[in-house]
Amino acid sequence: MTLFERIIAREIPAQILHEDDLCIAINDINPQAPTHLLIIPKKPIIRVSLSSHEEVSILGHLLWTGGEIAKKLALDQSGFRLVINNGPDAGETVPHLHVHLLAGRSLHWPPG
Ligand code: AMP
Repeated sequence: MTLFERIIAREIPAQILHEDDLCIAINDINPQAPTHLLIIPKKPIIRVSLSSHEEVSILGHLLWTGGEIAKKLALDQSGFRLVINNGPDAGETVPHLHVHLLAGRSLHWPPG
């Protein structure tokens, strides 16, 4: 099982902020911004580049959920960023797809 599957199964503790049929959202353990959440599909898709066309509704659901959570946390006016790291050059460390939601400070562009 991946780390995130174990969190979803409640084998490893995490601060779960949202859960539905397709995904959970948790606080990142090493936050890079005042708000740093991970939106994680329950299906252990490894990464975007290994997803299949049958999974497009899950991929879309992750983005939509990010927007809903941002609105719930009143981050939609100040702004927020959704990030997916795919592979080593992008900094992917957990091989279970997840969308980072970052907010609460001015975020640099281009990213480092
Ligand atoms: P990535 O580098 O894009 O694969 O992102 C993995 C993220 O998972 C990093 O931001 C880590 O800080 C985060 N992370 C690792 N272990 C945990 C954990 N047990 N609970 C919450 N977040 C975690």
